[in-house]
Amino acid sequence: MKYNRVLLKISGEALAGEKGTGIDPKVVADIAAQIRDAKNLGVEIAVVCGGGNIWRGKTGADMGMERANADYMGMLATIMNGLALQNALEALGVHTRCMTAIEMKEVAEPYIRRRAVRHLEKGRIVIFAGGTGSPYFTTDTTAALRAAEINADVILMAKNGVDGVYSADPKIDPTATKFDKLTYLDVLNKDLKIMDQTAITLCKDNDIDLSVFNMQKEGNIALACENKVDGTIISKGE
Ligand code: UDP
Repeated sequence: MKYNRVLLKISGEALAGEKGTGIDPKVVADIAAQIRDAKNLGVEIAVVCGGGNIWRGKTGADMGMERANADYMGMLATIMNGLALQNALEALGVHTRCMTAIEMKEVAEPYIRRRAVRHLEKGRIVIFAGGTGSPYFTTDTTAALRAAEINADVILMAKNGVDGVYSADPKIDPTATKFDKLTYLDVLNKDLKIMDQTAITLCKDNDIDLSVFNMQKEGNIALACENKVDGTIISKGE
């Protein structure tokens, strides 16, 4: 069963490619092509970009910076990523809007929920940049918040090289097994590291499903939109 409206979460690291930091234009172009193909299925797609490839608030705080300031730098990093993705999508002829949680009208539209929904209805890819606009949060929490606000059917957690949620880290523990389905309670009880606790709680309280899958496998974003991807689905359960 195809989803009608999805919220795709892409971590900053996913945009960095093998270097691990910065933005790799080839990788961004590949992701943009996957998003275009998914959109062509008739799915409304909103995207939340992370910023960890450029800056994380915690890094600054560990260096002695004031946490809030360091977090604002992280939010600005997500806007750089958002613009890179917007550019790559537009190069493919896809209509987009980048909306920022921190106002910078010369660069992108300010985030206004009703406008975001309108853009989606018109078939534009909407990129939510700047996180929640508040320090002490993450872009995972942003994804959960925006998904709730726009009434998304599901959050697609596109992972780099990991094809779902495992009982343990498969790189360390060879007996680790992949879950096909989980409930939010399972995730909290087993303390599975998928999103931070704030994000998981928001998803649980607002009954938003989560699909965790490997984005590096060509075509998986489209398959995830069709609810056909080989990954892990997390939901409220019965
Ligand atoms: N950030 C923030 N508030 C938000 C979202 C993000 O302060 O609502 C900052 C925070 O410092 C974080 C950085 O932006 O470390 C980058 O986001 P994140 O670490 O979530 O990116 P990802 O891990 O997905 O690349």
